[in-house]
Amino acid sequence: MAEAQARDTYHILQPRPSPASLSLVIPMYNEEAIVHFLRAEVEKFMREVPADMEVILVNDGSSDRTIDGIVAWAAEDRRIKIVHLSRNFGHQIALTAGLDYATGDAVAVIDADLQDPLPVIHQMIERYREGYDVVYGQRAARQGESVAFKVSAWVFYRVMRFLIYKRLPLDTGDFRLISRECLDGLKSMRETHRFLRGMVAWVGYPQVAVKYQRASRVAGETKYPLRKLLGLAWTAATSFSTVPLQISIVLGLITGLLGIEEGTRAILASLLGWYIVPGWTSLMVVTSIIGSALLISVGILGQYVGKIYEQSKDRPLYFVSRTFNVAGPPISAIMTRSDAMAEIHEQS
Ligand code: UDP
Ligand code: MG
Repeated sequence: MAEAQARDTYHILQPRPSPASLSLVIPMYNEEAIVHFLRAEVEKFMREVPADMEVILVNDGSSDRTIDGIVAWAAEDRRIKIVHLSRNFGHQIALTAGLDYATGDAVAVIDADLQDPLPVIHQMIERYREGYDVVYGQRAARQGESVAFKVSAWVFYRVMRFLIYKRLPLDTGDFRLISRECLDGLKSMRETHRFLRGMVAWVGYPQVAVKYQRASRVAGETKYPLRKLLGLAWTAATSFSTVPLQISIVLGLITGLLGIEEGTRAILASLLGWYIVPGWTSLMVVTSIIGSALLISVGILGQYVGKIYEQSKDRPLYFVSRTFNVAGPPISAIMTRSDAMAEIHEQS
């Protein structure tokens, strides 16, 4: 950790006032069991925090009655804004939609299931006042999670760090407070394959961790089974780094060496008159090693080509089917990469 920080850019921190307006972004997918717990916690938090509050609930195409619960809440409180996506787009895209709609000076991202305790945001605001642009929650301990989960999470963050960035903070989810400056940078990144934590690390600016105890889910069940977690890891690896492509080169080199060894042996054998007929085993071994190395390399290459293909379609990241308590859909909600580029050109 210490050496990772040493490599970071040195920033002069400029103290600033608390954010005058704060947005909470909460993605929700099949969280009907949670709405009333969430409401109680959020209302308590809104009474405590000295800022104009806005809560953006992104309903990520839930198939249960999540929307009914949150619409009832929004009807009573204008600060509760709902972005109802046209279908389930997944956690990372739902977060993106919420961030696009956020208008606050600072934005806090939390999970709907209250695993990220809202009071920690007060500590995040303290660090924001010191001048940090990103304050991320770092898990100090995990309650109610199996050993297998702990191990896979541990491996996940280490592998990600190796593949993506030395700077990717360890044991950190999407729970964080982001300043307006950093958010605007993040919003201009419209890539299809999104790993937001990595993208926030990539944007830079002064970043700091706040340690907290991660609670277990208040109700409902996780939407991140191992399969999805692995999917996220793969997206993270292949959308952030070309290390997997280099694996092909390494495989190629190894099989190349094997080939040279086998070739030399064959030549020597024929020159020196060694007994050569029973070469079948070694032939099979070499052929299959080369075959598998080729297939793996082509497969990895294919993953990248597929990603380029999907990105080149330049589709909007999501569609919003309805909003509640939102003045009008921002352009960024349907902004593609080329739209974003056009906007940047206009501004400059
Ligand atoms: N979520 C979402 N879309 C999805 C899956 C999850 O918006 O396709 C939301 C979910 O409602 C929750 C957050 O993302 O607010 C994190 O999901 P979960 O708590 O299931 O993940 P875990 O904490 O188990 O990693
Ligand atoms: Mg959770």
